Amino acid sequence: MKRVKSVICTIMMMFVISACAGRTSNDSAVSMSGQEEISKETEEMTMTASPGNGSDEMPEQEGSKEEAVAMNELCLSVGDKRMSVEWEDNESVDALKDLAGSGMNINMSMYGGFEQVGSIGTSLPRNDSQTTTSPGDIVLYSGNQIVIFYGSNSWAYTRLGKITGLDEKELEDTFGNGDVTISLSVGAQTASEATKSFDFADRTVMLNSGYEMPIMGLGTYSLDHDTCVNSVKTLLQNGGRLIDTAYMYGNEDVVGEGIRQAMEEYGISREEIFVITKIYPSQFGDPEAAIDMALEKLDIGYIDMMLLHHPGNGDVEAYKTMERYVEEGKIRSLGLSNWYVEELTDFLPQITITPALVQNEIHPYYQEQEVVPFIQEKGIVVQCWYPLGGRGHTSELLGDETIKSIAEAHGVSSAQVILRWDLQRGIVVIPGSGNPDHIKENLDLFGFELTEDEMEKISLLDRGEKHDWY
Ligand code: NAP
Repeated sequence: MKRVKSVICTIMMMFVISACAGRTSNDSAVSMSGQEEISKETEEMTMTASPGNGSDEMPEQEGSKEEAVAMNELCLSVGDKRMSVEWEDNESVDALKDLAGSGMNINMSMYGGFEQVGSIGTSLPRNDSQTTTSPGDIVLYSGNQIVIFYGSNSWAYTRLGKITGLDEKELEDTFGNGDVTISLSVGAQTASEATKSFDFADRTVMLNSGYEMPIMGLGTYSLDHDTCVNSVKTLLQNGGRLIDTAYMYGNEDVVGEGIRQAMEEYGISREEIFVITKIYPSQFGDPEAAIDMALEKLDIGYIDMMLLHHPGNGDVEAYKTMERYVEEGKIRSLGLSNWYVEELTDFLPQITITPALVQNEIHPYYQEQEVVPFIQEKGIVVQCWYPLGGRGHTSELLGDETIKSIAEAHGVSSAQVILRWDLQRGIVVIPGSGNPDHIKENLDLFGFELTEDEMEKISLLDRGEKHDWY
């Protein structure tokens, strides 16, 4: 899918405009002393007239000029709290924006009781001048460190901006007196509101990487050979654009084959399609080889999104290798699979590019009611595996009396009710199927809407029943 700069829905942008301050052209500066080297739910509930009708077209909405400007703003947050910042209009901020585009974390440490300092891992253009700081000032020190001041200091810095609306005490309360991780990203990309802002008209969600991803697709676990090729082609022929595979499924080559055939036969461009694959913990020892193999097997140019399939030894290094492939343009977005609260809390401060997606087991009998908002509040999209309970469990779930009665009320199938329930929770669905009729049915989720009461009834079915061990 294309990287979107101006396509965004209006309500989401209203949020962004208020959360990300515009730049100032204030070139103020100057002064003077010491610092040591320190190492959607914007639901456009469009009830399509002929749902799941195989429309290949995903209409593009043009954002207004103001929306485009807001999309391009640099946002700074600590945890879920987004700062209001007046950024300088200079080369250093431009370079910082480029660096932060996909979302980046910076680990900061308290220094001298009045400033938080963190390395950005690379050198930015600088134009240092003697500067006396005041609370809230953000400066570049030595070209490669970002400093946020609670108090006053004088030294040669390049000004980056100023946090507004917080006094010295509030800054200290927000950033603390020890270590803290801050996040930088461009535009709407870290807001949980953005995460939930599924665009039901376009059937996409904006990822924190700046790419749009379809909100429903096909899972290919256990599909092989001709069944896999045909399932991928059925999906693409009928308007689906999202495909999930993995090294572990042993079918990246046939997924690629199905995609190439569909592109040629149905006139679909590569840019319209979004392919997720994963590297397995057994591959973490040599992540370059694993990524190169996935690129080669899929043989579709780039990979839209690569996930670490499970936590495991060497996962941080494997992720950092994927980050390098993002810089090289061979992978566009990154994510994790089977990462929960504890694992994410431990992992996120160790990496630079915030994952765009976490893929976990979620279905009505295992709802992850605490994990889902925890992930979404970080601006990360949640995607569910085993949406229909997984093979061997589907008949019980699809035959559940509550789900069946809701399905009857809407004249749809139990599978459609479950998938729609996910979408209305802001969760992307990738049901697995080797059956063309099921694949078409699973795309047909946009001609009905579950009521709050129905959503609540399904939420009460949760029984914490995991259908796999991880
Ligand atoms: P699932 O989607 O919950 O269930 C698949 C089963 O549902 C198949 O037996 C399929 O049968 C049936 N089905 C599909 N659509 C149906 C419909 N409309 N009506 C009735 N039955 C229907 O399980 P899954 O495929 O294992 O999981 C989904 C995807 O998640 C996988 O394919 C894979 O891509 C991913 N996944 C990821 C992980 C991970 O660790 N990250 C783990 C497991 C799965 P038919 O073939 O007959 O349609």
